[in-house]
Amino acid sequence: MAGFFDQTVVNQVQQANDIVDVISEHVNLVKKGREMVGLCPFHDDHRPSLNVNVTKQIFKCFACGAGGDVFKFVQMRENLSFSQAIERLAERVGIKLKPRTQDSRPKSQDSDVDPNKLAKVNEWAAKYFQENLVNKQEGKSVLDYIAERQITRESVKKWRLGLAVSGDDLIRTAKAKGIPTKLLEQTGLVAGQMGSGFSDKFVNRLMFPITDVTGRVIGFGGRTLDEKGAKYINSPTTALFDKSNSLYGLEQARHRIVSTGTAVVVEGYTDVIMAHSKGCDNVVATLGTSFTPGHGRILRRYAKKVVLIFDGDTAGIEAANRALEVCLAQHIDIALASVPEGKDPCDFLLAAGKEQFEQLIDEAVDVFQFKWSRLAESFGRDETLAGRKSAIEEFLQTIATSLWSGNLAAIEKGLIVNRLSKIIGLNSKEINAELRKRIGRAAKTASYNVDNQKVRSIDLGDGFFAVAQREILEVLLNEPKLFEVVKRKITAEDFSVPILRQTASILFETLNTEPGARLTEILARAESPEAGGLIVELAQSGEAKANFESRLTGALDAIGRHRAQTRKNEIKAIKDQTQFLRRVLENTGKQSPHSTGMT
Ligand SMILES: [Zn+2]
Repeated sequence: MAGFFDQTVVNQVQQANDIVDVISEHVNLVKKGREMVGLCPFHDDHRPSLNVNVTKQIFKCFACGAGGDVFKFVQMRENLSFSQAIERLAERVGIKLKPRTQDSRPKSQDSDVDPNKLAKVNEWAAKYFQENLVNKQEGKSVLDYIAERQITRESVKKWRLGLAVSGDDLIRTAKAKGIPTKLLEQTGLVAGQMGSGFSDKFVNRLMFPITDVTGRVIGFGGRTLDEKGAKYINSPTTALFDKSNSLYGLEQARHRIVSTGTAVVVEGYTDVIMAHSKGCDNVVATLGTSFTPGHGRILRRYAKKVVLIFDGDTAGIEAANRALEVCLAQHIDIALASVPEGKDPCDFLLAAGKEQFEQLIDEAVDVFQFKWSRLAESFGRDETLAGRKSAIEEFLQTIATSLWSGNLAAIEKGLIVNRLSKIIGLNSKEINAELRKRIGRAAKTASYNVDNQKVRSIDLGDGFFAVAQREILEVLLNEPKLFEVVKRKITAEDFSVPILRQTASILFETLNTEPGARLTEILARAESPEAGGLIVELAQSGEAKANFESRLTGALDAIGRHRAQTRKNEIKAIKDQTQFLRRVLENTGKQSPHSTGMT
């Protein structure tokens, strides 16, 4: 699971970085009993909710649920991937990392890319663009243009705006500085091919450096100044930059997002710059893409609620559907708002000011409500029975499909059902029944393109089955030696709830290779912060309940019964199908099924 690196080295890196030392670099920790506590950096914390267990080397926030080992803390705090977090912490203690084998890396010409080197080149380029704006002849008119757009000189400095000029000036300057063209190519600052030569990617453009949450420059956006080509272009995807997982302004906005609990998402660079200069500094922007699950995952670490602001009247059903999916998959509240009169947020802020912009945010409509009212509109507001029925039909089907592909806990599902019940005026029992019907339908259609992320079905009715899966994980995380019993009866494949199944496969894999593995060793194989948080949660709730052996027996029993029932259902389904085929054959004469289709 550690991907690029040898597992023993990963464990070494983990052991060499004491979790208290690492967290103390970000959070002030004080001793309280056997643990250390501090203000949690992952939510708006007023009393110290972050607990760090020194002996177990794990952290857990009792308010927002964030938890994990030292890798997870660094991943979440600095918004790094699992392997980047390993690299960062290896560097911190001076451990040299070697890729496991050449073959275990994805085969690409970029296998020797070093993200830290790319960040350094980007930093150099950001300075170079900034200096162009001030020192070059062409900079003058661009500064005038910026002033016309009412972007202040402070903003220009704060956001490090710059200028890309023509004539392959960046390549030439970089060469004079001794920066290898190969590195420039890996940053996406130049484009072209070996042989035919390289040229600057950004030409005559106003440059916006894009940073990650730690302030590293990971890419650039460029606005055309001579109306050639697209209005805005971004850096291509690199080892450092992926626009569907990056947000412009997150570094500057995150503290305010944490303290207000709300992240406001707009579409453009200048919208963000203008919002911050007017004092609305919890605003970030997507980089020319729609709001993705990746964006949701990042913002969830800082915000309880996300408000998406759309230009003019572009917030249609499409946008609502995507937002709804992210909302359900990432367990984050999303509300939608549109800027009136076809303006973009930047113009609106200039014309109407901070208060009206904040009002827009306050009045944003919850995504469920939004989707429902748009549907009700399109089916006619006159409340004819047929119109209402088709609206309900489509609404529930969308939600069922999202529910099926997401990882929802029972509590969250309950909250959603309550919300639906208020919006469409059916009681929760009816809604549950309708959703269950539709989830069956969604599961059937989707089972043709299942990837290993998704599982066959979500069990809305059989609560006990999900509870049993949880119990087994809780027990094993506390009594790893009981794995001997478990592995004779079930495999990770028997877990139907996606997030539990993911956890089970990490746990089973670890215990197979390292019998009796400790919690930190298991966490060192969990790549996602979600999995890390869940593992710590399960370990702790398991510890509190104790009675490991009897709970395990009960849970294994329940899973056995469920498996038998499923098999019975499958056999019945096959029987039904056979009967159906037989009837078809009887009705169409004595044709054999083998002779149809092929001849
Ligand atoms: Zn927290």
